[in-house]
Amino acid sequence: MLAQHSGSSFLSTVTNTSSEVDKRNTHAARVTLRTNAVEPVRGGHPWVWRESLVRSDTLLMGAVVELRDEAGVAIGSGIADPSSAIAVRVWTVAPERWDAGLVGDRVRKAIRARTKHFDNEKTTAYRCVAGEGDRLPAVTVDRYDMHAIVKLDGEAITEHRDVIRQALTTELPHIGIETITLRTGGRGAAIEFESWLGGLPPPRVIVLEHGVPMVVDLHEGQKTGAFLDQRENRKRVGELSRGCRVLNLFSYTGGFSLHAALGGASHVTSVDSAAKAHAAAQASFVAAGIEPKPHAFVTADAFQFLENAHRRSQKWDLIVCDPPSFAPNEKSVARALSAYRTLHAACARVLAKGGVFCASSCSSHVPADLFLTTLDDASLQRSDLHLVDFRGLPADHPTLPIWKEGRYLKFAVLE
Ligand code: SAH
Repeated sequence: MLAQHSGSSFLSTVTNTSSEVDKRNTHAARVTLRTNAVEPVRGGHPWVWRESLVRSDTLLMGAVVELRDEAGVAIGSGIADPSSAIAVRVWTVAPERWDAGLVGDRVRKAIRARTKHFDNEKTTAYRCVAGEGDRLPAVTVDRYDMHAIVKLDGEAITEHRDVIRQALTTELPHIGIETITLRTGGRGAAIEFESWLGGLPPPRVIVLEHGVPMVVDLHEGQKTGAFLDQRENRKRVGELSRGCRVLNLFSYTGGFSLHAALGGASHVTSVDSAAKAHAAAQASFVAAGIEPKPHAFVTADAFQFLENAHRRSQKWDLIVCDPPSFAPNEKSVARALSAYRTLHAACARVLAKGGVFCASSCSSHVPADLFLTTLDDASLQRSDLHLVDFRGLPADHPTLPIWKEGRYLKFAVLE
């Protein structure tokens, strides 16, 4: 469901909360880090876990806190969230201090960095602000042509939304952004929007990735509309597809499928449990001048599809497998690994000899090495495949060297 807040009710919310936040900021509370948490923060790690604080019961939602070691030495500052296991998101390492000017500088820097990577002609959708990776923890901004969609991760950062809004409405118009919209909800809750600049964006926009069109549903699409993190991997699949029968599992709006078709695939089968996603995929095919009819768009459970395909002895020359996250938390990692093994073995059974298998994972709790164990010979039950490429996030999704949790995307190419 789509709901919209009027600008005036939004402004009154800001007025109410900002004085409280100001009060909190001027009396920045001190929190003490346990010894083992000091080095990671000095190294740039953006998260302090609750158990790393000597005391966490005094934290106020959204308060800017000073981080100190047990001897009282200033380490940095961050924004507190008493409701989260990540008790403080770190914004500065001492002697730098948090203020609105710092937020503005970092937003400007993040946006300028993108102009190095994108010319806005061949690629018109990318992440302008990548949260922790741009040292703007919990702030995500994705660009879809002239529309920017903002997500604030959690209540703590939402307390500072007037500062974020100010920085974004100042900087984003410089790169041709005409509308800025805060997106809230999702994950079961209704998706809601607040216009920060220029009114709400249209429900459907067509963006380009390396010149390839992609129809994006900005009102109901996943994440902020699309999975921009796979852009470079979609391009790679296009390059690998010439003459191939391609199977794209968990195809969503068909990005991999369209790059494959344009790359010269002889036939593309897209499988997703959501029929609506196929409609968007077909619209993207049409926008690219490719007739969708000769290709297959199958609404099915991917596991079941693979089972049936094996029974019918079907084979593909290139398989892309990009499922949703299987591990929502640390506890589910063992179950997730087992699901990846089952899935990858089922893919390997329908992969033709000499074929290419692209296996992806977006589970941040499954690190690269563990993910690769689900692609070893025992898991795949064949020993003719080699890892020829192992890719991660693109340049518009920067991470920090010490922040391994941020490198959630894995994309293995085996042949
Ligand atoms: N590869 C896509 C992103 C995939 S997102 C891209 O490049 O944009 C994950 C997709 O998996 C969603 O579209 C969801 O509808 C689908 N999905 C989830 N569980 C599924 C299942 N069991 N079988 C098939 N599709 C599934």
